[in-house]
Amino acid sequence: MAQPLTMETECLELRTRHPFIIARGGRSEYRTIWVRLRDADGHEGWGEATPSSFYGETAETVRAALERYAGALPADPFDIEETERRWEASLRINASARAALSGALHDLVGKRLGVPLYRLWGLDPAKAPRSTFTIGLDTPERIRLKVQEAAEYPILKIKLGTERDVEILRTIRDATDKEIRVDANCGWTLKQAVAMLPVLQEFGVTVLEQPLPPDQIAGLAEISRRAAIPVVADESCRTAVDIPPLVGAVDGINIKLAKCGSLREALRMIAVARAHGLMVMVGCMIESSLGITAAAHFTPLVDIVDLDGAALLARDPFVGATIAGGQVALPDGPGLGLRKR
Ligand code: MG
Repeated sequence: MAQPLTMETECLELRTRHPFIIARGGRSEYRTIWVRLRDADGHEGWGEATPSSFYGETAETVRAALERYAGALPADPFDIEETERRWEASLRINASARAALSGALHDLVGKRLGVPLYRLWGLDPAKAPRSTFTIGLDTPERIRLKVQEAAEYPILKIKLGTERDVEILRTIRDATDKEIRVDANCGWTLKQAVAMLPVLQEFGVTVLEQPLPPDQIAGLAEISRRAAIPVVADESCRTAVDIPPLVGAVDGINIKLAKCGSLREALRMIAVARAHGLMVMVGCMIESSLGITAAAHFTPLVDIVDLDGAALLARDPFVGATIAGGQVALPDGPGLGLRKR
């Protein structure tokens, strides 16, 4: 009988160039978990778990969950569907821990076959939309500095959800003519959101992400009805089952591996969203190129890309997919195609 895979984990200490602040707070230091699965022939598959306290995860819960999942590692890394089902059945939620394992299995399979994951999926990397680059909450002076630093990126994503939103938008619009998209990260009430719609229009904003708290679906529908721009659900949409209730309430959904827990689930979300005529966005957390690259492999299937998590870091421990100049560039090595820096 084939030997089961073995797992090793390592904590990565990541630091952003600037404190990364959104409507519910922020910081400069982030801990993610690097997961390595090894087969008997010495092939390794890598993945990254990016815990988010908003979804109830920390580096500690990820490590505890990984210990549990390690008891159900497959002997055959190609047995992905059944293995992922078993992991979810043994310990639900913990999406970022499962996303790391899912990434590592896909990486391992690609390496065993000697093909990049995007090729295994039949995708053309040239079809990937350009990525946005995020400007987090800050003082007007520092926002101006960040806009200058983001000179190479053609589309900016602006974090809002504060008392100073109009000032922030004006500061950015005065500093640049670029396309801007807005993410309120659940930070508005319905009344505030409705009041902001003409302001967004005045400043030429093209996409509005998650204006209201996750469960306010009727409110999201009201905003979508009034808005001239697409409204995208992020915190309201974790996995594919969240999509049907959002139909008619939003124009699109934002997929993140740390929310949905699996590359296979990400593909299911794309299929479900498309079946309902919704736009598809892919986003990220603050994470290294390891996690970003796993998501970058399905960017040819989406409309909106926001994969700047590693680009915001002072130092990225991996070399993988990049978004230089906003262009998503996938590595052409087998599997995820990553190497350690
Ligand atoms: Mg968001």
